[in-house]
Amino acid sequence: MAEVMQFKTESKRLLELMINSIYSNKEIFIRELISNASDAIDKYHYLSLTEDKLPKKNDYEIILSIDKENKTLTITDNGIGMTHDELINSLGTIAKSGSLEFMEKLKEANKESSDIDIIGQFGVGFYSAFMVAKKIEVRTRSLYDEKGKGYLFTSTGEDTFSIEEIDKEDSGTEITLYLRDNNEEYDYDDFLDTWKIKDLVKRYSDYVRYPIKLKKIVEVEENDDNAQDASNDDNQSNDEKEEDKKKSSKKSKAKKKAKEKQTTIEYETLNSMIPIWKRNKNEVEDKDYNEFYKSKFYDAYDPSMHILVNVEGKVNYTTLLFIPSKAPYNLYSEKYEKGLQLYCKGVFIMDKCKELLPDYLRFVKGLVDSSDLDLNISRELLQKSKVLKDIADNVEKKIVSKLEGLMKSDFDQYLEFYKNYGLNLKFGAYEDFGAKKDLLKDLILYNSVNEEKMISFKQYVEKMKEDQKFIYYVSAKNKESVMAMPQMDVIKKHGYDVLILTDDVDEFLIRILGKYDEKEFKSINQGDLDLLDDESNEKIKELNEEKKPLLDAIKEALKDDVKDVILSKRLTDSAVCLVSSDGLSFEMEKVLSAMPNNQGMKAERVLEINPNHPLFNALENIYLNDPTSIKNYADLLYSQALIMEGFSVKDPVEFSNKMCELMIKSSNK
Ligand code: ADP
Repeated sequence: MAEVMQFKTESKRLLELMINSIYSNKEIFIRELISNASDAIDKYHYLSLTEDKLPKKNDYEIILSIDKENKTLTITDNGIGMTHDELINSLGTIAKSGSLEFMEKLKEANKESSDIDIIGQFGVGFYSAFMVAKKIEVRTRSLYDEKGKGYLFTSTGEDTFSIEEIDKEDSGTEITLYLRDNNEEYDYDDFLDTWKIKDLVKRYSDYVRYPIKLKKIVEVEENDDNAQDASNDDNQSNDEKEEDKKKSSKKSKAKKKAKEKQTTIEYETLNSMIPIWKRNKNEVEDKDYNEFYKSKFYDAYDPSMHILVNVEGKVNYTTLLFIPSKAPYNLYSEKYEKGLQLYCKGVFIMDKCKELLPDYLRFVKGLVDSSDLDLNISRELLQKSKVLKDIADNVEKKIVSKLEGLMKSDFDQYLEFYKNYGLNLKFGAYEDFGAKKDLLKDLILYNSVNEEKMISFKQYVEKMKEDQKFIYYVSAKNKESVMAMPQMDVIKKHGYDVLILTDDVDEFLIRILGKYDEKEFKSINQGDLDLLDDESNEKIKELNEEKKPLLDAIKEALKDDVKDVILSKRLTDSAVCLVSSDGLSFEMEKVLSAMPNNQGMKAERVLEINPNHPLFNALENIYLNDPTSIKNYADLLYSQALIMEGFSVKDPVEFSNKMCELMIKSSNK
């Protein structure tokens, strides 16, 4: 008896999407199914190496067969197969690991009515077959099925699927697609055409390491003449073959009548089977690597670059790495699994070996194939092995040097990369107390007030003015807001460039870096900018003494909020600004206070007043006429400075009341 089950809600949505897909590249279903088949054989093979009880197979294969009469295409593998529960979990549920994000993405995609991303990003492999099939039957038997039974999964891609027990001789999976009926837009019968299938396999799955065989039913007469015909046809052009097909179908009909017909089955291997990373580099084009990437790592887009390195020496390995052109949607979520595929002498060992990639390179996809790893040790030991560690260190360095190369050879392409993954590099340089800062510092870019494009520290230093001692930076949303900052007054006068920090990690990173090329970093709104000559410094010092009573009065009024009130050395046009003492900066305070277990750490605030601004004279007058009224003005000044620094005022109602009072007062005069 067949059990009938409902697809999970999110799977239903996906199915609808597939079935009504506007995705024009329907043919990719074939590479998805072949890739699943190949993975299933990989799994079998790996197990057979480590588990003695398992029957060894040496005839791994993926078979494609076409049935023109019933309009079906069947893909068979002799891999690991699926148990009853695995069938339900794997084919009845989609996006197991990320249903929630998946649904969110789906909603977004519906809005923009583009489904291509979804298909690419979620590796919805099996489901893609519903783009071309109106019904799918999966016959499978798992290596692990206790009863030694197989199961038949049937679905038309609507609400339900059914499962029933069947007899199946061997472990493996057979997937039969009942092709949709042709319509004006699409000729589904194409997939019943031998040449089409051959072409697709060559194009998308040539590198698959197991033979992909096309099953051919060859009609032969007693004397074998026709069989000869069929196996010769490899040398013909497509057109000739079309002709022949027509002729031979006529012929066979004729034979049927005469009942002379006999058939034999032949298999033709369609793929070259050499893993792409083992093939001679000169023979492989970029587009081949791109196809390989898309099918292996479930992406709809070509990667932005690939890296292929063959290392011989202390450790021997080949690595083929890809940088996705778009960051995976869940790159920063906990559920994202980083890692590279691991092969040992061409045998697949594991899918996401996380030991092979440092965290900050989690976006890199690819594989490592090494002859120095021992297949017969457990995965756990393997993952701890020294060889693996050496390979990982090496792979990391290769990636970094490739990126450095790209930055030199094609800065715009590097910028594109950096937009996607720059944040990762920053984290990489910051992590572990800056353990990797020297490796990564030259890959980091920032926007700056003087430059159109982002620049590196190296470029900044090269363009520094002769008298410039520091590398200046400031945290801000964008260039416009930096240019409007009072703290920029004196910097503008000197024409110095200022790096604009936009990410939470930036100020922490700058602190960890400390210096670049012996030049210290300096925030434009922290501490003393050190930009005045001795004479001017002396003048300000004297003035600070002279105006001490006023400054002290303001300081007293703000004693709960600021550490100091001083005359500014950085303001030329603006009246006041708020800066922090060396130590914790405002930006760091904001980042820390947003953290779950923050300890209420605060940056020390210093209110700077411009002695050359008319406001300063006004304050002096107020203080002379009525020293007690200075408190209200001090509060207002401080509130304004807070607003300019992107903080909110302590008490907006009080602030507003004081403003009103002041306006009324001035109108009464
Ligand atoms: P993905 O391959 O991205 O996991 P699919 O929808 O293509 O997504 O497949 C879901 C799961 O179904 C696979 O991870 C695998 O466990 C199982 N599966 C699919 N095809 C086969 C097959 N031919 N043999 C064994 N298991 C398979």
